[in-house]
Amino acid sequence: LASRLPAVGTTVFTRMSMLAAQAEAVNLGQGFPDFPCERSLLDAVTDAMQADCNQYPPMTGVPALRQAVAAKIATLYGQQYDANDITITAGATQGLTTAILCCVHPGDEVIVIEPVYDSYVPAITLAGGIAVCVQMEMRAGGYTVPWAKVAAAVTSRTRLIVINTPHNPTGSILRGSDMHALSDLVRGTDILVLSDEVYEHMVFDGQRHESVCRHPELAARAFVVSSFGKTYHVTGWKVGYVAAPPALMAEFRKVHQYNVFSVNTPMQHGIADYMADPQPYLQLPAFYQRKRDLFRNGLAGTRFELLPADGTYFQCVRYDKISAQTEAEFAEWLTTEIKVAAIPVSAFYQQGNESGIVRFCFAKQDATLALALARLATI
Ligand code: PMP
Ligand code: GLN
Repeated sequence: LASRLPAVGTTVFTRMSMLAAQAEAVNLGQGFPDFPCERSLLDAVTDAMQADCNQYPPMTGVPALRQAVAAKIATLYGQQYDANDITITAGATQGLTTAILCCVHPGDEVIVIEPVYDSYVPAITLAGGIAVCVQMEMRAGGYTVPWAKVAAAVTSRTRLIVINTPHNPTGSILRGSDMHALSDLVRGTDILVLSDEVYEHMVFDGQRHESVCRHPELAARAFVVSSFGKTYHVTGWKVGYVAAPPALMAEFRKVHQYNVFSVNTPMQHGIADYMADPQPYLQLPAFYQRKRDLFRNGLAGTRFELLPADGTYFQCVRYDKISAQTEAEFAEWLTTEIKVAAIPVSAFYQQGNESGIVRFCFAKQDATLALALARLATI
C-alpha cells in the first residue's frame, strides 16, 4: 500500500512511554498527570451515566457544555461566541485535524512554528497541503516567534497559520506584542488562524493567557482549540472543543459529522455540570506553578540548565554540560540508565534539529517529582 504518510512512524510519546515502562523509569516524558482528577468530576459523570445519558448526543455536542464553554470564553477573554459557534470534539487532536481538513485544499500552504506539536503536519499532509515551517529563535534565553520570518514565509498560497500558546514543548507563551504582529500579518488577506490553546489555564507568574479570543480581529478568522483533558486532569477522556465564527464553524461541522459525528455523552454532561464552578480552572495556574517551582528548585543544583517555563506543564532543560549525545540518545540514556524518562525536543522538528534540549513533564505528584529529582541529581 502506498502510504499517505510515508514520513510518519510511531509517535515519540508512545515510544518514550513504552521505554519508560520497560526500564521501570519515572515517566516525565509523555505529558499526563499521575494523580487523579477531582472526585466531584467523577461523580458528575457517573450521575450522567446513571441518569441514562448514554445515547448519541447532538452532533455538535451537548448544549449545556457548549453554553458553559461560551460563557467561560466570554468571562475570561471577552469574546462573545454563541453556543452554536462551539463544537465538542474527541480531544483537541480531533479538533485540530478536523479544522485543518475543513479548510486546507490540495496545494495550499500552512505555516507552522517549530518546534511543532506532532499532530499538525500529518493532518496538513492528509489534506494535501504543504507545511511551511518557521523556527522559533532563542532571545534572552527563551524561545520566541520571529514574526518577520513568518511574514516572509507568507505566499499567495498561504491558507492557514497554526499557533500554539502556551507552547508545547517549549513552555513559552505568546504575548500581546505577538498577537499584534500576527494581526498585522493577516490583515487584508484571507489567511485563517488555527490557535491551539490546550494549556490556556497553565500560565504562570501572574502573566495572562493571550487567547486569540482577546483579539476580535483574529478571532474573526480563527479556529480556537482547547482540551478538558489538560484542564481537568483527565487526558484519557479525550474531550475538547473548537470555537469559531459561524461561517468557519459551518465548514468545520461538515467534516466533524463524518469523521466522528459526536463525542461520548456522559462525559459531556458531567463536564458541563462541573464547569458551573470556575474554581478548578482558576486555581490551575497556582497549582502547576507550585509544581514547576518545586521541580525547578530541585534541578537548580544539577548541571542541567533551566530554560524559562512561562506556561504548560513542561520544563525544558539544556544538558550540554552533561553530555554531547543527540537529544534522542540522551533521552534514551536518561530513561534506561538514570530511570527518568524525558522527550527529545528534536522530535518536534520536521528535519531534525539538535539544540541539546530535552523536555520534562512536571504534572506529577510531589513524591514522583522528588524521586525523579533524586535520580537526576546523581548525574
Ligand atoms: N495540542 C497540544 C499542544 C498538546 O500538547 C496536546 C496534548 N498533548 C494536544 C493538542 C492534544 O490534546 P488532546 O489530548 O485533548 O487530544
Ligand atoms: N500532548 C502530550 C505530550 O506532549 C502527548 C499526547 C500524545 O501522547 N499523543 O506529551
